[in-house]
Amino acid sequence: MPPSDVSAGSFRDAAPLVDLPRKLPLGLGGTLARLAAWGSNRAERRGLHFAPEAAGLPIVDLHADTLLWGYDPWRGGPGHIDIPRLAASGVALQIFAAPTWTPLPSRDPENAICVNCESMDQSLPLFPSELWSGLKIARQRRKRRRAFRIARRFREMVDKGLAHKTAHLVEIDGPQALDILAERRCRTGPPAVGVLLSLEGVHWISADAPPEAVAAEVETLRIAGFRMIALTHRFSNGLGGASEDCGERGGLTPAGRAMVETCLRQGIALDLAHASPAVVEEAANIALDQPCGRRPVFVSHAGVKAVHDRARNLTTREIQAVAETGGVIGVGFWRSAMGWSDGDPWESKLDRIVASCIAVLDALEEPAFVNRMFKRYGHYNPYEHIAFGSDFDGAVVTPFDVSGVSHVVAALSRAERDGRPIFPREKLALISGGNALRVLREALTPQPLDS
Ligand SMILES: [Zn+2]
Repeated sequence: MPPSDVSAGSFRDAAPLVDLPRKLPLGLGGTLARLAAWGSNRAERRGLHFAPEAAGLPIVDLHADTLLWGYDPWRGGPGHIDIPRLAASGVALQIFAAPTWTPLPSRDPENAICVNCESMDQSLPLFPSELWSGLKIARQRRKRRRAFRIARRFREMVDKGLAHKTAHLVEIDGPQALDILAERRCRTGPPAVGVLLSLEGVHWISADAPPEAVAAEVETLRIAGFRMIALTHRFSNGLGGASEDCGERGGLTPAGRAMVETCLRQGIALDLAHASPAVVEEAANIALDQPCGRRPVFVSHAGVKAVHDRARNLTTREIQAVAETGGVIGVGFWRSAMGWSDGDPWESKLDRIVASCIAVLDALEEPAFVNRMFKRYGHYNPYEHIAFGSDFDGAVVTPFDVSGVSHVVAALSRAERDGRPIFPREKLALISGGNALRVLREALTPQPLDS
């Protein structure tokens, strides 16, 4: 495990960071942020018309890093997502993630990409004040501060949308908010878009932090607005192993286990994207064995090894482990997860996303696994565990910006097996957003205290 210089005692400085308002950078800072986002988040096609095949379907995207860049998402943005485009693209709910440390990747002895927690943080220029504070405070604490900085950006974005003509934002902070969102989306007026804040990598907790300290930190993150937490990002940390770490890709640490238990109990959605296979297995087992029965877990954004074999993508066993908890897998739209080449035709890139959805389905339809699910639950629908997780604005190249999500739905509707559609309309409704909404409702409901 990498060294961690923060243990239980240093969590108390959270409150002022949570409360402090901070304006999104305008002027030079905002312009630089926009330039960086423009250069890093390329999309082959933008401003696509809405594909009619997606009309009337809920569209939910489980992961975008838009708030990392620091420009105002209410203004027309340079990357894959901004609020005007979200509203125009029929998106019902967008999850915004807060990546807290993004080290430069390197290569392992087999020449595969891997990530070392010690290497330079690529996103440091997006947080100029950290250049100064970096001289004074430890790296682990800076990662934590960044989580709260992005939480403030989220809060500003939501506040600005309380009375906006372009869209009405509904912050998804619990199951009731999903009802409010559903009701708002039936009204006339500006389209309602649900937004949820997610944390990508809790790098500042040491492996031996006591469970009470971990629970206190989850509570602080909840107060700051986070409703989804991914334990790791691209490198292993004090909670557990990551799938792309250059060194050890181990299982959960004692603090990692406490974090999993706390999230599952407190109604914080647990995201296993980027986790090592051992962490996925262990966390899913904990989720299956909760006092009130199983709790669902997420993989918010990923590809599938059967389509593109790389460490970051999911094995059949991982897909099944997530589904067994009642959870969902968000299939991504970006190049390095899907494995196409830049020169490939645009349509074949869409086909690759469709192939990844079919590969998830194949894993979920393995006869032995189907038997196991029927034995456990008495019923089972493999289509209930597939969702979208774009990774928009995650410094990735995609075939389209957010306006293209309806075209993924259209491409899925055309997929056939033995002359029959693989994803008929009721299945499309599940994958485009129905599954994500159902599982979020369950995951955001805290378990009763006396359980
Ligand atoms: Zn990610």
